[in-house]
Amino acid sequence: MIVLTAVVVALGGLLYALAVRPEDLPPAGPVSPAGALEEKRAAIYANLRDLQFEFRVGKLSDEDYQHSKLGLQKELMAVSARIAQNSGTAQAPKAAAPAPVAPPGVTCPKCAARFPQPMKFCGECGAPMTGGAA
Ligand SMILES: [Zn+2]
Repeated sequence: MIVLTAVVVALGGLLYALAVRPEDLPPAGPVSPAGALEEKRAAIYANLRDLQFEFRVGKLSDEDYQHSKLGLQKELMAVSARIAQNSGTAQAPKAAAPAPVAPPGVTCPKCAARFPQPMKFCGECGAPMTGGAA
């Protein structure tokens, strides 16, 4: 019984592998949402190419081709929109954060040497640092 089950499972797996094209399979393993969307978009592009090929070789009627193409293009637009949305939200915090123009510290008013810590006298030229001036 166990052997029979194993054979059936193996045959089922083989048939599944033969019947299903790789691009139709869901992504295996843990994939980031962005990666999954990119894969989906690539799969849709592949399907569109296949569709175009099948239409060219006469496997599909014009109506079927247009209908399937429209469906895939809608899907593609939805996936592309989600990819754009994801990249937009990912970049938003970077854009909102003010860019650090000058590092904290003090600049010597005489020789313009920069020091990370506030100092009373310049370590380069010995000039007195004006308090608070950065
Ligand atoms: Zn100085």
